[in-house]
Amino acid sequence: MRIVLLGAPGSGKGTQAQRLVARFGVPQISTGDLLRSAVARGTELGLKAKAAMDAGALVSDDIVIGIIRERLGQMDVAAGYILDGFPRNLAQARSLASMLAVIGQPLDAVVLFNVDYAEIARRISGRRTCPNCGAIFNVHDAATPGITHCTNCAAAPSLTQRPDDNEHTVARRLAVYDEQTRPLIEHYRAQGLLRSVDAQGAVDKVTARLVAVLAPPAPAAKRRSKPKPKPKSKKKSKAKRVRKPVRKAARKAVRKSARKVARKVARKAVRKALRKKPRKKLRRSPRKRARRQAPGPRL
Ligand code: AMP
Repeated sequence: MRIVLLGAPGSGKGTQAQRLVARFGVPQISTGDLLRSAVARGTELGLKAKAAMDAGALVSDDIVIGIIRERLGQMDVAAGYILDGFPRNLAQARSLASMLAVIGQPLDAVVLFNVDYAEIARRISGRRTCPNCGAIFNVHDAATPGITHCTNCAAAPSLTQRPDDNEHTVARRLAVYDEQTRPLIEHYRAQGLLRSVDAQGAVDKVTARLVAVLAPPAPAAKRRSKPKPKPKSKKKSKAKRVRKPVRKAARKAVRKSARKVARKVARKAVRKALRKKPRKKLRRSPRKRARRQAPGPRL
């Protein structure tokens, strides 16, 4: 699974990416998290990125593309990954495509998170993050109202608010999204990679919708063919078992009566033939003739 989560800041990409990690076992690659970590560690890259991040602007392409190239070279991405917050403009999208073309592993899908701006403002103002495990909570969510400590870590550290989640920076980030990131929607739609998800509402419901859009498309419905005839069972049905002797008996009866009729006809014919035959004169032997002619008592 190689996917990109696309959407405005606060649309819930990070929260849902964590759910997908748990579900599909592939890592989340968030350029925002990687940059924040570099800033927190005070690395040279972090120092370069900090000013742009604080202003709600995009960090330069060569920095983020460099980060992504390094991250995609690591072992744990072999089975796939969830890109969260990258690419954020057309130049980054093209660099990603050529990186993936070199290794012959193109993206599977780009999922657009649809949320209205009023909901984005509510989510960003209530967003809290665990400094230890990175889990994201929201003080406005019905499931975690006013949450202050991480419920994911045994030590339950205090949750923190991102420095760029303030009113001024959020307005700038949304403007940057409209100008630079929104064109990616058409870019990926034209490539047939874009899928959209309604990202409003409860986190669990959004996860269910997301998982549904990520499911592979169902195979085209097969043309209805005639139902195959049931294989003939070797065991004869009761009706058949009964029918055969009955047929046999019927045949026998027919034969018998035919024979009877034939015999009758034959007898009749014989009788007729016999009746027609001229009666033969009995020829008597000379001794018998002499006896008949001789007078005297007949014994
Ligand atoms: P995020 O956590 O994704 O909201 O990102 C926080 C900040 O990190 C953004 O406002 C940008 O300043 C910076 N950033 C994150 N990803 C990128 C990116 N792909 N390109 C440029 N800047 C980025």
